[in-house]
Amino acid sequence: MNKNGMVYLVGAGPGDPELLTLKGEARLKECEAVIYDRLASERLLDIVPKECEKIYVGKEVGSHSFNQEAINRIIIKKALEGKMVVRLKGGDPFVFGRGGEEVLALQKEDIPYEVIPGITSAIAAAAYAGIPVTHRGVSRSFHVITGHIRASDNQLTDNFETLAKLEGTLIFLMGMGNLSLIVKELCKYGKDVNTPAAVISNATIGKQKTVKGTLLTIEEKVLENNIKSPAVIIIGEVAGLNMKAAAKGRLTGKRIGVTGTGQLTDKLSAKLVEHGAYVENLSFLYVNEFENNTELKKAVANLKEYTWIVFTSTNGVDIFFKYLREHHIDYRNLSGLSFAAVGNGTQESLLRHGFIADYIPDTYSTAALANGLLNRYKEGDKVLIPRALRGSRDITDIFSKHFIPFTDIKIYSIEIDNEKYNRVISELTDYDYITFASASGVEGFYENLGEESKIILNKTKMICIGDITAKKLAGYGAANYIIAEEYSVPGIVESILRDAKELY
Ligand code: SAH
Repeated sequence: MNKNGMVYLVGAGPGDPELLTLKGEARLKECEAVIYDRLASERLLDIVPKECEKIYVGKEVGSHSFNQEAINRIIIKKALEGKMVVRLKGGDPFVFGRGGEEVLALQKEDIPYEVIPGITSAIAAAAYAGIPVTHRGVSRSFHVITGHIRASDNQLTDNFETLAKLEGTLIFLMGMGNLSLIVKELCKYGKDVNTPAAVISNATIGKQKTVKGTLLTIEEKVLENNIKSPAVIIIGEVAGLNMKAAAKGRLTGKRIGVTGTGQLTDKLSAKLVEHGAYVENLSFLYVNEFENNTELKKAVANLKEYTWIVFTSTNGVDIFFKYLREHHIDYRNLSGLSFAAVGNGTQESLLRHGFIADYIPDTYSTAALANGLLNRYKEGDKVLIPRALRGSRDITDIFSKHFIPFTDIKIYSIEIDNEKYNRVISELTDYDYITFASASGVEGFYENLGEESKIILNKTKMICIGDITAKKLAGYGAANYIIAEEYSVPGIVESILRDAKELY
């Protein structure tokens, strides 16, 4: 018999991942299964552990969706497998999220659970549009109402006579299909046609659109501006207020995809977010470290045989040193060895482990690295190359040709995360900018995309570091790219800021 698992119903917030609670984040970081649907910001899936089972139970437009009973069964099944389950729900789990039904199902099965509230889109959308849901002297209450039609009789379930008389702010969720009906019913029961109204779609996620008007004009404005679901409808005097911060970030409203992993992309993302952009890491590749690696074990046991270690990636450096630490191999065993690093990032990784690279080529390529080492070669040298499976053959070909003894060991591979891959593909057209920090990053990205996606990408503005990266982009047909003047995070940020400014 399995031990019972535990289920956390976590409110994901309205979309911007930074609006997740600390408690929600903590549970996501340790869960063993996550059950999610489309409204919960899918970006949050990036923080679950690699081994975590990800189960999608949302609706795809026009196709079959899971019914609530089926979802309940999946949650219960995973809990009974003894797993720590996060049921991730958009906004707050209990605000039209059917969280209550899930809790009842768990109670029936005696499965322990905890509900972690989230910021509901009802309030977040208003805030992001500069609308306070209550305001002294203007609105003393707010009412969150479903705008969904009851399928059986094609009637709105609410009593509009009562709603029309409320003086507080009316907030409709799931109401876009019925906007016309909502407006008509409210006016029919006496709501002033000049009451301010606002509609906010895709709130907080960088493609947010807001229109403001009155009950009389709002429908027309929604049509004019092509505002689509998911959207929140706000009706009441507060919708006429504008409390939006005057000092907007210079990249507010821009969606930026960054590619690559590691420190550079983390720093870059943080900077872009500071400027108000909505940033998503588009890497759908992950690092798969090889376990019980006999090649690495052998090489490390015979370190004295080698004179050079060549590192061709940040991952290679980190995995190599992690192996030494985990196997209690003292770093003093490395004394006397020289280190070569392919470029800046790799050099910085070495530095984080306390080592200064003895050689870095002028241009950051494996061929340049191998040729540079040829010039440094001395009789008796032997090179250890701990690196990725399917790495470039430049180094080994050049070394073999010149009879330089080496051991090429594969310590990890780069694999595709299919779930992330599908998500990235489906959202490719949404980005204003996509950044690339290396030629291999470009290659990794494009090589895995279908032909159709490559064509879509040719219209997107690419920001890259260095001519080699730019050449790679051009090779894949990208026409619209900018080369950052400086090879650094501030350099990339600066080129985006400059470009965004010119657009206005
Ligand atoms: N539990 C969720 C609501 C689920 S119902 C919450 O608390 O936010 C789904 C509805 O929420 C959508 O039809 C839309 O009205 C609203 N919604 C959710 N996310 C939204 C967003 N980012 N922008 C605008 N509306 C959103």
